[in-house]
Amino acid sequence: MNNFIRRYNKIFQNNLGGYKMARTKKVGITGRFGARYGRKAKRTVKAIEENMKRDHVCPQCDRPAVRRVSAGIWKCRKCGNVFTGGAYLPTTPMGKTASRNIKRIVGGL
Ligand SMILES: [Zn+2]
Repeated sequence: MNNFIRRYNKIFQNNLGGYKMARTKKVGITGRFGARYGRKAKRTVKAIEENMKRDHVCPQCDRPAVRRVSAGIWKCRKCGNVFTGGAYLPTTPMGKTASRNIKRIVGGL
């Protein structure tokens, strides 16, 4: 019965006056945490996850089809290219510096 009321409330709130209302005005993707963990932590997670879950451009085929497999591992859904990168983004400023330095050192041999 409680479940029924909850579901009914959800439907009612989402379709107030025939308009689709945003169910999560502030929390967005972190709405799944409900009332837990506080505003600041959820804001941080929101910023990271919203960037993380965007389609990223593949370094091999240049198509925006790269998805995160796990921390630091990224896969292109179009060409199947699997590569390493940042934990939450395919490329990080630190990673760019590192690969530039490696190229410089290896190229100088
Ligand atoms: Zn690709």
